[in-house]
Amino acid sequence: MSEYKINTKCVQGGYTPKNGQPRQIPIIQSTTFKYNTSEDMGKLFDLEASGYFYTRLQNPTNDMVAAKICDMEGGTAAMLTSSGQAANFYAIFNIANCGDHVVASSTIYGGTYNLFHVTMRKMGVEFTFVEPDCTDEELAAAFRPNTKAVFGETIANPALTVLDIERFAKAAHAHGVPLIIDNTFATPVNCRPIEWGCDIVTHSTTKYMDGHGAGVGGCIVDSGKFDWMAHKEKFPGLCTPDDSYHGITYAEKFGLGGAFITKCTAQLMRDFGSIQSPQNAFLLNLGLESLHVRMLRHCENALAVAKFLAGHEKISFVTYPGLEGDKYYGLAQKYMPNGTCGVVSFGFKGGRSAAETFMKHLKLAAVETHVADARTCCLHPASATHRQMNDGELAAAGITPDLVRFSCGIEDQEDLVADIAQALDQI
Ligand SMILES: *Cc1c(COP(=O)(O)O)cnc(C)c1O
Repeated sequence: MSEYKINTKCVQGGYTPKNGQPRQIPIIQSTTFKYNTSEDMGKLFDLEASGYFYTRLQNPTNDMVAAKICDMEGGTAAMLTSSGQAANFYAIFNIANCGDHVVASSTIYGGTYNLFHVTMRKMGVEFTFVEPDCTDEELAAAFRPNTKAVFGETIANPALTVLDIERFAKAAHAHGVPLIIDNTFATPVNCRPIEWGCDIVTHSTTKYMDGHGAGVGGCIVDSGKFDWMAHKEKFPGLCTPDDSYHGITYAEKFGLGGAFITKCTAQLMRDFGSIQSPQNAFLLNLGLESLHVRMLRHCENALAVAKFLAGHEKISFVTYPGLEGDKYYGLAQKYMPNGTCGVVSFGFKGGRSAAETFMKHLKLAAVETHVADARTCCLHPASATHRQMNDGELAAAGITPDLVRFSCGIEDQEDLVADIAQALDQI
């Protein structure tokens, strides 16, 4: 599929049925797989042969869908996880363990911030958060001898900052570590971070990829470009023998293209088991088949909403990287010339209470802890997803108490603008 354009990959990537096989991806709803001999199975446990033995680690349905996303992102290997949280945790923990350090953008998704700043810190992994617009000097100063990765989001949720992927990739590589990018909001339809030097891409497939609010899921894609062996001393997990698999060395046995995902599956999926159910993988694939069509509409609607809000007297600011004049318009044009995402953030001259009144009066847009759905939804982060943050942390994450995150669905543009207009009238 790699010779085809992204729109074709969305529809047909990952699975090509042979003569007489099902047209649609089969749901392999089976925990286990049968073998003729113990020797056959033994080869799988030694990672000598590839195949399935237990769905806690791998399942054929998942792998077909992961192969599609891999193809869309331009990677060499991919795996599905049970959630976006699991994807980001695995992507980091696969290379950064107790005593290690990671540089991350400060404007990342609240759930990821919590995972890094609270939970992974308890596991002994330290994070330094840098603003996505920090200077090159500030970025370089964040690295330590034990830094193992750099992490950011293409378009941050909900701050809508755009990461200068090339600049962050350059800094990561200068320090001998990979750049990991959560590409959830842009999706590979609008941006393929690997083309800009990113090494590992993660997704919450719960968002645009699924697109219908049907299943929580995640994905990790490896570009196959990061040379682990060239930085052997930093990545012992990939570059020295794994005792739990008879001493194989992932970077040697599976090479650039396969080492990261094989280790992540063989160790982390084996031990933590955050696997996506095959049923959810099937639903995810249905979403992927129309992702390229939906993204167009999401972006068109968001631009119309952003333009309307930008001219409204009760609105204090509008943030949408696709809107001319936005702080990130230039970067968005560079990395996402065909569109950014469907999410628009804005604030009210009337502050937090105006935001609360607005939320109360929406009719078409539903109040939900969700974004990137075919149906328009809306959230007030300061009273929901980010409520555990103090004002200083909120500010660092690019969120003010009056900020509303409006996720434009694929409904009619005029209906969306009318709903917003009538809710604004109530303030
Ligand atoms: C939602 C989201 C996540 C977390 O994904 P879940 O599927 O909810 O676990 C991670 N990153 C970003 C950018 C998100 O929007």
